Amino acid sequence: MKLLLIGLDGVRADLALPELVAADPAFAAPDHPGDPRFSAPGGPGAAFGTPPATPVAPTLARLAAGGRLVPVWMTPPTDSGPGWASLLTGTTHEQNGVWWNEFVGHRLARCPDLLSQVFAADPRARTFAASTWPALVDASGPGPVVHQRPDQQVGGQHQLFAGTDVSDGCRSADRQVTTRAAWVLNHEGPDAAFVHLEGVDEAGHRAGAASAGYLAAISAVDEHVRHLVKAVAERFEQLGEDWLVAVTTDHGHRAEGGHGEDEVLVRRSFLLLHRLGGPLPAPLAALTSLRSEQVTPALLAAVGVRPASLETDHEVGVVRDVAPVGPTRDLRYEW
Ligand SMILES: [Zn+2]
Repeated sequence: MKLLLIGLDGVRADLALPELVAADPAFAAPDHPGDPRFSAPGGPGAAFGTPPATPVAPTLARLAAGGRLVPVWMTPPTDSGPGWASLLTGTTHEQNGVWWNEFVGHRLARCPDLLSQVFAADPRARTFAASTWPALVDASGPGPVVHQRPDQQVGGQHQLFAGTDVSDGCRSADRQVTTRAAWVLNHEGPDAAFVHLEGVDEAGHRAGAASAGYLAAISAVDEHVRHLVKAVAERFEQLGEDWLVAVTTDHGHRAEGGHGEDEVLVRRSFLLLHRLGGPLPAPLAALTSLRSEQVTPALLAAVGVRPASLETDHEVGVVRDVAPVGPTRDLRYEW
């Protein structure tokens, strides 16, 4: 099974998919407390905002209708750097050392992203990542979270793309990333792919989650998601490829804008799962709730990859001592 993970930065699930979120009690409150250092001054705040008058994310709703929506709870700080580092590597802030968007003190070299873990499991695997935020894929700035693996880039086995067209802010960069990603997905069908779009986060910072612009931004990336799903759906339809499509976010936004601290509306994320080619694998169908660092292990297990471990609990690299016994003096072994 191939994997397409779409990361939509800063999307409030209670506004994008209000009925589904309201129907699942696991979406009501975080499943674990946040570090007191990152507490919001006014407390965790309300659990839900006012639902939009009309649905804003028809593609996400269609994916959920044929799949499922799993609650995910982020651990503050809810900046994008720590959020994506945790979501994409399957590690906590303490493990990966990413606490802010500056990535000071990060240990990402020891925390391979999910694409690199797919490659480690099968060195023939082809991987692709595209992002509107350079810190996820571009080695010229902070991070990046997704490993470069230049050896695999030489032959196109690993492809990275960072949106550069900011003539219309993240909206134009999102269009650029989607265009490139849809082409690669459709024509090359990488074994594992990650596509990140940032337009919703930009709108949240500009006008807040209670604004019409924020809802319009969700609709815009929802249409981008449709293009990406269409790209792999055509491969399923015409080639029979089995695809797991997943969508997630790194944090919400306060009504007035900003990631905030440990507010419920900010900490709430989701993992939207949809399979083209059959029912969801049983472990995914059985999920009730996840923390951010559990997303990558769940996705890797679904596509048959054993997650990387910082412990030596696998065969690779285990030193085996062979007791030396000296030469046999048997002439059959003398050459
Ligand atoms: Zn973010």
